[in-house]
Amino acid sequence: MTDAKGLSGGCQCGAVRYRASDFGRSSVCHCRMCQKALGSPYATLVTSRDLTYTRGKPTYFQSSDKVRRGFCGACGTPLTFEFDGFDPDITVTSLDDPSAMPPVVQLAVESRLPWCEDVSQLPQENSGLEAGAIHSHQHPDHDTAEWPPQED
Ligand SMILES: [Zn+2]
Ligand SMILES: [Zn+2]
Repeated sequence: MTDAKGLSGGCQCGAVRYRASDFGRSSVCHCRMCQKALGSPYATLVTSRDLTYTRGKPTYFQSSDKVRRGFCGACGTPLTFEFDGFDPDITVTSLDDPSAMPPVVQLAVESRLPWCEDVSQLPQENSGLEAGAIHSHQHPDHDTAEWPPQED
């Protein structure tokens, strides 16, 4: 899948930003290492053949002899899964538009948490926050010329 413009993404604090346009498949990984690395029931990852960093660089944790995982050293956002010798995967939810990369397969289902399948059936509540109730320090879901913004 190739898009001339590509997709941008990055970490929560904005210290690391990236862009990619040539993607492989998007997948959910239920393995125990992804659960730990993402702090989440599963990872959603998409392979990128042309990942470039447009601001900052990730910090890495070598999670096994074959895999290192990139994350923001300032805010901790998980960014990549890099298997030795293969194109890196990026975390779909670090994309500015995660809806652009819906997963097409589940991997390592032997480790899937039993309650995972039931989440969509749970009672639903909105955040309850009124607009402006909190002031977000999260980088916006688009590239910025400078970050953090300069105070006026
Ligand atoms: Zn960050
Ligand atoms: Zn995994």
